[in-house]
Amino acid sequence: MKDKVTAAKKNEVIVHGTAASPGVAHGPAFVFLQRDLKAPHYEVESNKSAQEIKRFKRALNKTRTQIVAIKAKIAAKLNEQEAQIFDAHLMVLEDQALIEETIQMQRDSGCNIDYCFYKVSQNYIKCLHQIKDDYLRERALDLEDVTDRVLKNLLGEESSSLEALQDGRIVVAQNLTPSETALMDESNVLAILTDWGSRTSHTVIVARRIPVPAVVGLHDLTEKIHNGDEVLVDGYHGIVILNPTQKTLARYNQVRSAHESLRKIYAQSVKLPSQSMDGHRLALMANIEDPQDLDAVNEAGAEGIGLFRSEGLFLNRESAPDEAEQFEAYRKVIETLKPLPVIIRTLDLGGDKPWKGQFFAESEQNPFMGLRAIRLCLEHKDIFKTQLCAILRAAALGDVSVMYPMISGLEELQQANRVLDEAKKALRKRGEPFAENLPIGTMIELPSAAYTADILADHCQFFSIGTNDLIQYMMAVDRVNDKVAHLYKPNHPAVIRALKAIMDTGKHRGIPVSICGEMAGDPLYTGLLLSLGAHSLSAAPQCLTEIKYLVRKINLPDAVALADQALACKDSDSVHALLTDFYTKHMEDVLDGVNV
Ligand code: PEP
Ligand code: MG
Repeated sequence: MKDKVTAAKKNEVIVHGTAASPGVAHGPAFVFLQRDLKAPHYEVESNKSAQEIKRFKRALNKTRTQIVAIKAKIAAKLNEQEAQIFDAHLMVLEDQALIEETIQMQRDSGCNIDYCFYKVSQNYIKCLHQIKDDYLRERALDLEDVTDRVLKNLLGEESSSLEALQDGRIVVAQNLTPSETALMDESNVLAILTDWGSRTSHTVIVARRIPVPAVVGLHDLTEKIHNGDEVLVDGYHGIVILNPTQKTLARYNQVRSAHESLRKIYAQSVKLPSQSMDGHRLALMANIEDPQDLDAVNEAGAEGIGLFRSEGLFLNRESAPDEAEQFEAYRKVIETLKPLPVIIRTLDLGGDKPWKGQFFAESEQNPFMGLRAIRLCLEHKDIFKTQLCAILRAAALGDVSVMYPMISGLEELQQANRVLDEAKKALRKRGEPFAENLPIGTMIELPSAAYTADILADHCQFFSIGTNDLIQYMMAVDRVNDKVAHLYKPNHPAVIRALKAIMDTGKHRGIPVSICGEMAGDPLYTGLLLSLGAHSLSAAPQCLTEIKYLVRKINLPDAVALADQALACKDSDSVHALLTDFYTKHMEDVLDGVNV
């Protein structure tokens, strides 16, 4: 792999990665280390033993204070019950056997206390893992978590925990899972940089939602950067500059103000209809994960929610939210946006969104091909049915549809619909009001669904194309693996043909087809998707204003000519060149001066 680091001038280092979320940010780095902590091993003079033990007790106290603070934060963000897992962590800290054995080992062996604590706790963890009992296995996880925190404190690495994020920081990590990002205080995040990942990884989706700039696929950036290092992030071009010079900062100030002016220009279309110059409608909807995202939805002038990723409600907790809690979250979104439509996608856990809860005690070798999304729901029908009951009840309050992720074919769609019927029956029996005719959507994100769309069309009312997964599964490119990110090609002729085939099927069957993957939020594809017949595009709210501005400059016959040419292309580069040309021609009046 070619070295992506080039020294530009003394001290200033430029690192290239993949541009994942737009924007420019400048500030100190916060390095989030996920590596396994190993305690150093050395001998301590016998007259320093008391000092070592004092150091250990200080670390235990500091850990206690941190856990109490996290518990309060979780209780405020989720609920008391979820916060109670931290009681188990506090109990580990009070465990006299663990503490005394560590101190005894230090006195007997003369080794440093970090090492003794690491050894003693590893022993306990090993024993607990060997016992085949779910309760004790969970205690082993608690002990692992607490050991990590105590060690970080002993080693002076306390800032490497995301909950400790303070002030404005540029978060640098190897990778960030959705459950890790859910715990971070978003108001303190200036940008996100990761060694791994590609444009459609869920980390990036989070960055676009906050919204902050993000660059991913930076390989070994975490090894080159330290907490507090000054960093400049160019999320437009995928560039990270360590120790930027005054000249670089001045140049980027110009980039920032050029984009600020662009945003103001785009914002002028917020209240105008999303339609081409010759009057063809393309509804622009928003993707959300959390009811907290609604302000951004309003500001962007979205025409509704095209994708509510409901799994956000399940991350960072061990038990599934009950029907009442889910109903409340859906109700909030529906009533806040009323009369706008809301499409709630049923649980899409698994893949890069493993759930800490009961399903994922064992990790899978190939999680994106594993027990994910609808597969998981059909294996755990109780959880699925509870979610469907909450959606059906909430749907009585507004214009709501449900959609299933990762449907592979007719059998799964029918099974899902049967669980929906069971949920309706249960609600009828309970006498609860619900939306009897809740519209059903199928996400087309597996090649098998794309090829059988005509069959699926008889069992649902709309399609929504999840291009993130469709491309991943069509091209066998793991969407979060930076080593193959260059092979992840939305403009591959096979992808363009698949999109056309799905949209043609929708037209013949008279059902609307929307796009809700990241392609929908990239203006490079707007002309193509409009001409292929997309009914709506759903994307992160902050992508929508530029797309609307562009839609309003397009004449449908020009876009149709573009699609014809793209469909005749033999390779991705030719498609890319065509789309870039179309985009720049339509936007040249505003783009001058942006590429500094
Ligand atoms: C997709 O796959 O395109 C999609 C919208 O779903 P997610 O990104 O949540 O997998
Ligand atoms: Mg998907």
